[in-house]
Amino acid sequence: MKAYQIETILSSNRKQKPVTEQLEFGTIFTDHMFIMDYSVERGWHDPRIIPYQPISLDPAAMVFHYGQTVFEGLKAYLSKDGEVFLFRPDRNFSRMNQSNARLCIPPIDEELAVEALKQLVKIDQDWIPKAEGTSLYIRPFIISTAPHLGVAPSESYQFIIILSPVGSYYKEGIHPVKISVEQNYVRAVAGGTGEAKTGGNYANGLKAQEEAAKLGYSQVLWLDGRENKYIEEVGSMNVFFKINGEIVTPALNGSILQGITRDSIIQLLKHWNIPVIERRISVEEIYQSYREGLLEEAFGTGTAAVISPIGEFLWKGEKLVVNSGEVGQLTRELYDTLTGIQNGTKEDPFGWRVQLR
Ligand SMILES: *Cc1c(COP(=O)(O)O)cnc(C)c1O
Repeated sequence: MKAYQIETILSSNRKQKPVTEQLEFGTIFTDHMFIMDYSVERGWHDPRIIPYQPISLDPAAMVFHYGQTVFEGLKAYLSKDGEVFLFRPDRNFSRMNQSNARLCIPPIDEELAVEALKQLVKIDQDWIPKAEGTSLYIRPFIISTAPHLGVAPSESYQFIIILSPVGSYYKEGIHPVKISVEQNYVRAVAGGTGEAKTGGNYANGLKAQEEAAKLGYSQVLWLDGRENKYIEEVGSMNVFFKINGEIVTPALNGSILQGITRDSIIQLLKHWNIPVIERRISVEEIYQSYREGLLEEAFGTGTAAVISPIGEFLWKGEKLVVNSGEVGQLTRELYDTLTGIQNGTKEDPFGWRVQLR
């Protein structure tokens, strides 16, 4: 392990901590941030932790115009005994480098990033809320900063990590959501940026989400961009189905984001000897299983909600109600186990938890 020199300037003006019960998602930020610069001459340099503050950019900075940017999302958890855990943080930074490669952003040193993150969380660890289901959401991101309107990869960047205490995703207990199968818009296409965690994918998805919301649906089920037939993701989560005792999830195909929660769920199911298969799944197949009474459970997976049970799909005007709109038994077991591993109340046979010391 290399020793990294990360300069630290502590804030002399600490903010008031929020009331846990009033926490929302991503509205409040802690006292410090991590920042590091890139230039062609120096590469990535000057890694430092500084007081949380606005950044100053030239209006011509490339990120504003052509969206050359990537981000990540993970959480820090406080255990009942006061230990601080991260969940598989190395995976986030290796995925960030995959996104970087797709967006022509120079790769970061993954070990340095994990080390910087640990130091930052340690400094702001009093911001991790204590109540069950709460956590400190971590948002690493990279922006292109060169003031230049030519369409080309930027010659300068900033890598930043900010922290936000977040409330429980399920304030009234874990509950199923209603999903509309999207028929007009697509999230990603083969060869596009769907596999990268980049802002443009989200800007692209807003319209479909807005239209689904008007109909009373909280998210959309995205189909493939070529044939509009095969299931890819649900909102900004990966998706799983339990059909006749077997768990299926769309196989990674280049346009599906490689969720770390998705990977963890697959490993957990294998560990439990429950059959799980990654393959192509058409929406027609889901419809047929539903008609035959074989569609038992459905859920989305992602860092924010961990597991989001699906109680209904709207498809071509028909409402497919899953498990009477209740949380399925396997869905609940997966939720309880994974959140238990994350917050330290359950055993971690996979070595996923990383304790801050
Ligand atoms: C981040 C993300 C996910 C979930 O990834 P996790 O690593 O599980 O948080 C799934 N789909 C999309 C489109 C995402 O951006």
